Amino acid sequence: TDDSWLTLPNPVDVPVEICAGPEVPIESAAIDELLTVLETARTLSDLAAATPGLEFEPRLERVVCTPDFHKGAGIPIGTVLQTVGALVPQAVGNDINCGMRVEVTSLSVDRLRPHLDAVERRLRHLFFEGGRRIGLTPAHREGLLRYGLPGLLAEGPPADADGVWRQIGPDDTTDLRARLHAAGYPVASADAFQDWVTSGGGTSYDSIIGSVGGGNHFAELQYVSAIHDGPAAYAWGLAPGRVVLMVHSGSLSLGHQANATGRDQARAAWPRTVPLPANRILPMLLDERTAAGRERYLTAFANAANFAIGNRFFLAMMMRAGLAGVAGDLDSRLIYDAPHNLLWPGADGTVVHRKGATPAGGVTDHEHRTPDLYGEPVIVPGSMGAPSYLLRGLGNTRALGSACHGAGRSIPRGAASRGGDAELDAFLREFRVVTPLNHRDPAVAGRREIIEAWRRDLKQEAPWAYKEVGPVVDSLRGADVARPVAELRPILTVKG
Ligand code: 5GP
Ligand code: MN
Ligand code: MN
Repeated sequence: TDDSWLTLPNPVDVPVEICAGPEVPIESAAIDELLTVLETARTLSDLAAATPGLEFEPRLERVVCTPDFHKGAGIPIGTVLQTVGALVPQAVGNDINCGMRVEVTSLSVDRLRPHLDAVERRLRHLFFEGGRRIGLTPAHREGLLRYGLPGLLAEGPPADADGVWRQIGPDDTTDLRARLHAAGYPVASADAFQDWVTSGGGTSYDSIIGSVGGGNHFAELQYVSAIHDGPAAYAWGLAPGRVVLMVHSGSLSLGHQANATGRDQARAAWPRTVPLPANRILPMLLDERTAAGRERYLTAFANAANFAIGNRFFLAMMMRAGLAGVAGDLDSRLIYDAPHNLLWPGADGTVVHRKGATPAGGVTDHEHRTPDLYGEPVIVPGSMGAPSYLLRGLGNTRALGSACHGAGRSIPRGAASRGGDAELDAFLREFRVVTPLNHRDPAVAGRREIIEAWRRDLKQEAPWAYKEVGPVVDSLRGADVARPVAELRPILTVKG
């Protein structure tokens, strides 16, 4: 076990541990950034000193980094921060409730293969050629933002519902509590919600639901290529060759807007006598006097988190619609929806913040216990063209019950764009990637500058821009954070 952990000594004496086996490369830039984050321990004591009559001692209690840990903008991605008496909006990441949703279908890869051209055409139409009409009414929108998926689905389909809505089965509506990690984040204040809608969060949002989002967000068809834990795989419905859907998406523009609210509220509550910290991280004390501002932030936060759950849900329905009917009847069942940019307020003023880290609770300690007894499903994607893993969490307290949410980039964005033309061609011959630009369209293929820009973007996301997922998964196993259940290989990826 100790091979898989590194302890980072630091001047503020906060326990900081990095889960990473010997094979996992760690950037020194990420370590440097992490050290600046720890200054927040001092910020919290300064805030406490400037707040007379505080009945608790706010503090940074523990920091854990996951094996895919890399430099972010201010706080490394793959950081779990446990505080007491304070919350730190920036420790959640900009894309609130970005996460991974996984479903297992009734199709086998062998049955699907002969139909892949047709599936690719249908998915392109649904995702990028105006082929969907999700058509939410204001009541759907309000239900979703306030109460999450149950609030949305309680409304029933809109009058002009299309094939995407017809993919919703009885299990998707009745099984929510048992199977969704976050069925809904209740929003306390109606005023803040109204404010949110009129400030523009609501108007732009109908047109973006069902969007993947750019960069490393994706909707992918995969198949089970290996089983590592027979009983858990069986309980989750996984068998060799079975087709799986994986969706990675967040709250699109809503998360950014909620973060702006968090920053503004933290600024507004900041005592004049405390200088703004050099690391620019502004925590909010869990103090009665700042309750109103905090509630505004948490309302916006919950709205964004609920939206993200709904968006992943619809993206999965779109993938189902792309598959439905082409290779026989389709049945698809949720395994898990795992958020990786979120905060979890707990008892006694404890707050766990995960920025690019996924919960990995054990058999008994995760919030919405699944009906099986194998621990919380942990989803670790590799990259398009490389394997991904499903694991079961062990609820390791040393890891703050957290695991990595991917392989992590090996080459920073921007740097991967040079070279690699032969690799990219080989990759494109072998692999189906569906993007807003159809590179197979002869009219597009003739436009050199467009194709070049598209190839540059794609190289940023190519398998060689990411770390190898194998050592990352070995670190989780070695550190007793999670155990592999199944390996998944990609068939087709929708990006963009
Ligand atoms: P995030 O954007 O949430 O920080 O990272 C998500 C993780 O997803 C990355 O670390 C990477 O390992 C993985 N990833 C990125 N793009 C793809 C893709 O197209 N397919 C799969 N399966 N994984 C991906
Ligand atoms: Mn995201
Ligand atoms: Mn993400």
